[in-house]
Formats: sequence, C-alpha cells, structure tokens
Amino acid sequence: MSPDNPGRPEMARERARSERRDLDKERGEPLAGARGGKRPLRRMGKPLDAWTTRPRILVTNDDGIESHGIVALKRALEALGEVIVVAPDSNQSAVGHQKTLSRPLRVRERTMPDGSTGYAIDGSPTDAVSLGLLGFFDEKFDLVASGINYGANLGDDLTYSGTVSAAMEAIINSTPAFAISQEYSEEVDFTLAGIAAAIVARNILEHGLRRGELLNVNVPAVSVEECGGIEVTRLGRRVYQDQLIGRVDPRGLPYYWIGGPPPSGIALPGTDFDAIVNRRVSVTPVHLDLTGRRLLRELPKWDWALEASPKQPTPEDSEALRPTPLERERFAEETKLERR
Ligand code: MN
Repeated sequence: MSPDNPGRPEMARERARSERRDLDKERGEPLAGARGGKRPLRRMGKPLDAWTTRPRILVTNDDGIESHGIVALKRALEALGEVIVVAPDSNQSAVGHQKTLSRPLRVRERTMPDGSTGYAIDGSPTDAVSLGLLGFFDEKFDLVASGINYGANLGDDLTYSGTVSAAMEAIINSTPAFAISQEYSEEVDFTLAGIAAAIVARNILEHGLRRGELLNVNVPAVSVEECGGIEVTRLGRRVYQDQLIGRVDPRGLPYYWIGGPPPSGIALPGTDFDAIVNRRVSVTPVHLDLTGRRLLRELPKWDWALEASPKQPTPEDSEALRPTPLERERFAEETKLERR
C-alpha cells in the first residue's frame, strides 16, 4: 500500500470518500455522500404494545449466577418480557471477551432465589451469551442484558469488562444488547439500577439498535431521590494506578501481583465519568467498529514498500525462522480450532 499521489488533495478527498462509502456499506449504514431517497434503516424495534409475543430477554453477567446484581436485573426486566438467566457459575470479572474453544462447556440448571430456573455455565460471560444465542434454547432472543455489575465500567474499562463483552457477543450474533454496571459502594442497593435497566430495555425494544451498536449503562451508588436523571454520554478516560508488586514465596521464588490503588478517571463534561460523579445515570452508545479514523487517513502517507524493510533476513535467518515439525503441528491444531 502506498499513497497514489499525496500531492493532489482532490484525489485524497475522493479516496477518503470512497473509503467512507465502503465502510458504510460494510456496516449496513446509509451510504456516505448518497443524496436523496430514504435511508435504509435496519430496525428491530417497535412500540411495546405492537409486540405480538412477549419479548424474550437473555440476562447474563460476569459476577456469576449467584451475584445479587443478576437477580436484581432479572426482576427489573420481568415486567417487559420473558427473562431467562444464563451466566457463568463463578465470578469472571475482567475476563474481557474471553471465549472458550479448547475444552467442553458444562451447563447446570440452578434454582434462582425467585424459584425460577437459571443456567450456570463453567465458562466466560461470552460463552454464556454464545450458548444462549447459538441454539441451546429452541427460541431466539430479542434482547440481551448484561449486569448489574458490581462496580462501574467507564471509559477504558470497556476493554477489560466481562460485563460489556457479553453485550458485544450479543451484538456480534445480531441481537440487540446493553450492559449495566453500578458504581462500587459498601452498601449495595440496586433499586435505582433496576429502574434504569427497565427504562433502557424498553427503549431498545421500542427503537431497536443497528448492527454493531450497544448501550453501556452506569448507575451511581445513590438512591432514586438523590439521582439527577439519565444522561446520554460519551466514553471518558480512565486513569489507572496499577503497580507491579513483587514478593517472594515461602520457597524463595519471586511472584508478582498487579496491584495499586483503585483507578480514577477524568470527569470532562459530557463523559460517562462526569455523569457518575454528578449522580446521574450514564447511557453511552458504543460501536464495535474500532477503526482509528485519524490513522486511516494518515497511514497511506507512511512508507509501506516491502523493500523499505530495515533489515532483510539472510538465508541463515530464514532457516532459523522456519517452524519445527512440532510447531507446525501445533499451528495446524490451533487453526483447526479457530475455523470451528
Ligand atoms: Mn464484574
């Protein structure tokens, strides 16, 4: 890849336009630059009273099926539809979008505190959603709700969050989804979060989401009376204070913890951090297209010629780089797994 002719701005502009059109086409969005005509909307939502059957809602989380948050979320959404709980059997916080491909998954039926049946899986939140959407149940789902996570998922947290990853997995499987998390506090009360969850779920069922879109909801740890309302926000920036703590075990061998004080964040107006700091519920629209827009424009100006490689490998290097028979076998095995 090399720039055709960076000196001619009209060519660069046309290239940018056609790139944007290609991206829009991939996303199923109305084409950039296309004039007139109706926008082809891909909507699954409709007013609640227009639903001929009760919406089916899959509830999951990353704190595990025994957490209080998942029970609160189930209870909150039951007025809107039929709720089925599928969740990890243990706490899977901060596993991110982990997907289990190298071992079998077991599902156990669990009696939930309200007497209903839930499904506990010995895998990640992503596995729970996959199980639910890929045919474990006979019927499909209209919505996936993930949470209520104990602890906020703001800004850069999304890259670690099992709660948000579960919603991402739903989106990848063409099912609308939201993630909901509550700010950490000593005394946990999910009343406000339950109300917020029902409002968000109703809105998604009524308006629908387009491909690649999910909502990330964060709830301040305050009472309904103290809450200043719901605010649509953008992602803010986390400030992590991680420290590597090295110690020595009883056998004299070193080990390490990633520790340090809890992270803070930058509460610029309009961000999810600012909403939570000011006791408002934050609703952030998130898109799975992680393309870096600035670099997409910038990278073609870099040097991509193969012959510009700083050091060409010598024949001896190439020999050393060739995989051993064992490595080749392992690679073939992994590729097989990925193709599943
Ligand atoms: Mn969690």
